Amino acid sequence: MSNKAKAKIFIICLVLLAYPFLNAKDLLLKSNKLVEYKGYTGQWIDNNNPDELDKIISLYSSGERDVISLNGSDYKLKDTIFIPFSQSYIAFIKNKVACSNIIETEDDFIWPLENFDRISSSFGRRWGSFHEGIDIPAPRGTPILAVSGGRVITTTYSGNLGYIVTIEHRENIYTRYCHCSKIEVKEGDIVKKGDLIARVGSTGNSTGNHLHFEVRFGEFPLNPLDFLPFSPKVKETLYLKKMD
Ligand SMILES: [Zn+2]
Repeated sequence: MSNKAKAKIFIICLVLLAYPFLNAKDLLLKSNKLVEYKGYTGQWIDNNNPDELDKIISLYSSGERDVISLNGSDYKLKDTIFIPFSQSYIAFIKNKVACSNIIETEDDFIWPLENFDRISSSFGRRWGSFHEGIDIPAPRGTPILAVSGGRVITTTYSGNLGYIVTIEHRENIYTRYCHCSKIEVKEGDIVKKGDLIARVGSTGNSTGNHLHFEVRFGEFPLNPLDFLPFSPKVKETLYLKKMD
């Protein structure tokens, strides 16, 4: 599944699941941890605001009767109270955790350079040809990092792109890092997200030190900006740029 698809699922999950609770701030949900107590599922809360307590019970609990059976009829006088959650709130929390797992998977890319100032050339048509990646200027020797975990499938030299590292990721996604001054991995290496794989250079047909970075689905080049996290260093128009 693509990152975009995941992002969509995440947003849909969140909107659907949060809907019944949108009017309530997360009064209780300081953590996603559910606690079992006397056969009920819920959380312990500090009882320091009587107005808030009523709200919490009406919004999140399985009913005042359960609150009383667990904490006693004088529960409002106690310092800490166990709130047994309603089935719908338990489902909400569980799904919230499941959704947040979706966006924290290994598939999400990081930028291949830790620091950069700008993108000097974007993906798409350029000077009558097609630019199959993005160019990120950086000083020679700057560490290039694996954007996601995977396997180094080739480390080669081409007259055009200079020293190139190609990494295979899950689901037929490949990333290529070109014009490197030095390659720090070898074919077959398993790399983790953020591992040093090469260093920025200007090898091949290049006018200055920069990283030419590509994302491919099989052979098919994709716009890396659709995969990388949003960065304020990238001009907004590049995110909106229409392909023609
Ligand atoms: Zn380029």
